[in-house]
Amino acid sequence: MLIRKAVITTASLFKGIISVRLLMKLTGKNVIFPFYHSVSDSYPAHIHHLYHPKTTKQFNSDLDFLLKHYCPMDINEVISFRDSSKKRSKPGFFLSFDDGLKEFYEIIAPVLLKKGIPAACFLNSGFVDNKDLFYRYKASLLCDYFLKEKKEYDISKVKDWVKNHQNNRPEKILLSLPYQKKEDIDTLASLVGLDFKSYLAVQKPYMTSEQIMELSRQGFYFGAHSIDHPMYESISSSEQIRQTELSLRWQSENLDQKYSLFAFPFSDTGVKSAFYKHFEKVDLIFGTAGLKHTAVKNHIQRIPMESTDYSGENIIKAEYLYYVLKSLVGKNNFSGYD
Ligand SMILES: [Zn+2]
Repeated sequence: MLIRKAVITTASLFKGIISVRLLMKLTGKNVIFPFYHSVSDSYPAHIHHLYHPKTTKQFNSDLDFLLKHYCPMDINEVISFRDSSKKRSKPGFFLSFDDGLKEFYEIIAPVLLKKGIPAACFLNSGFVDNKDLFYRYKASLLCDYFLKEKKEYDISKVKDWVKNHQNNRPEKILLSLPYQKKEDIDTLASLVGLDFKSYLAVQKPYMTSEQIMELSRQGFYFGAHSIDHPMYESISSSEQIRQTELSLRWQSENLDQKYSLFAFPFSDTGVKSAFYKHFEKVDLIFGTAGLKHTAVKNHIQRIPMESTDYSGENIIKAEYLYYVLKSLVGKNNFSGYD
């Protein structure tokens, strides 16, 4: 991560003199898969402490940069790219958005329609229609409670909770809790009287089924993103399969789509080859490892666009530079398969 940040900083210094064309030539990579979660001119509290979404202006300038150097690809072109051993004569990009947030419907989709850019959005079947909230979003909401609004809280109420986690600040603990301890977040919320159900009902952070179907009719593609967003490395192989199958089922039962798509929640780190064998019929499986080779035909890596506050141009150029650096030490081959 530190190396990636250093490369992004370097890329920003030299951005004027390093051309995308040169970077494509150096790496042989002329197709990229940038992905985002949200675009917002304000930081919603459930996101605020996790990552910084691009503003509408920043998102538009990212898109202008992409359109200047690459052609937008639709899902059929991505399938052709997959079938031609991941090669393509013209530079191309395919955009995707994770977590099925309402900003995809309200802000992102209208911009993409106007610019004629196809995209896919990945949904957690357990969160569609605001049925529940991702445990990291819950953690961010609680951090907001403890930090941003500077609420005086009765420490005696949360004293035992804090003591059990061997730290002195609840907001520090919250951001480090793994999926397996997500119930601890619910416990702390009830201790301080924060009601996630009413947040879901009032803020509606996720898209509804109707909104998803409307966007699907307009040509946007939807894929699965697990039921409730676990880190796959931390759950059993059978649970990985269950999370993937049930979320894929949501797409097939609710949408009329030719292809099935899945994007790993968090990352594909540690996922065994048996998983890819089990899901070899899924048309496309996306990771989040940046510009990187994959050995499995339907497996494609994407570039995270919200990992720093740098512009899309810097992030893409840095990914290319990072790829060149990794090539020098032979680290571009995907190491997750056993
Ligand atoms: Zn996600």
